[in-house]
Amino acid sequence: MLINYAQALADRLAAGEEYITAEDYAKILVSEDPALDYEKVLALVWADIRKPASAVEVPDDFPSLTEQMKSFSGALVDFVATGFETVTKEDYKRRIEICNSCEMYTHKRCLLCGCYMPAKAWIPAQICKKGSW
Ligand code: SF4
Repeated sequence: MLINYAQALADRLAAGEEYITAEDYAKILVSEDPALDYEKVLALVWADIRKPASAVEVPDDFPSLTEQMKSFSGALVDFVATGFETVTKEDYKRRIEICNSCEMYTHKRCLLCGCYMPAKAWIPAQICKKGSW
């Protein structure tokens, strides 16, 4: 059994299919081999998501540098326009905790927007593209 959530997700999105969570991916793997234990597979999927940067392949559909710069520029414009206002420490912590438990979060970056979340999460006008915060 090959577990590569990021690649599976990239393949699905490239094919115009829906976003799937780590849980959805584990269910798909188990449906392909009913002998597998769902909880164990899910644990392996999360281990795959959390593996060190050197072991992670960047999915083909990771936002391009241009897209990342657009997102980052947008965040900076918001930051300047609001007089360098930031969210409260509590809200910042809540945002980062949500990202930490999200399968799109890898190496402090979001696979959906490409942003560096420890910076973006401080900016009030910025939102999670998945709608989690
Ligand atoms: S911004 Fe949203 S989609 Fe991106 S890592 Fe955080 S919770 Fe996940």
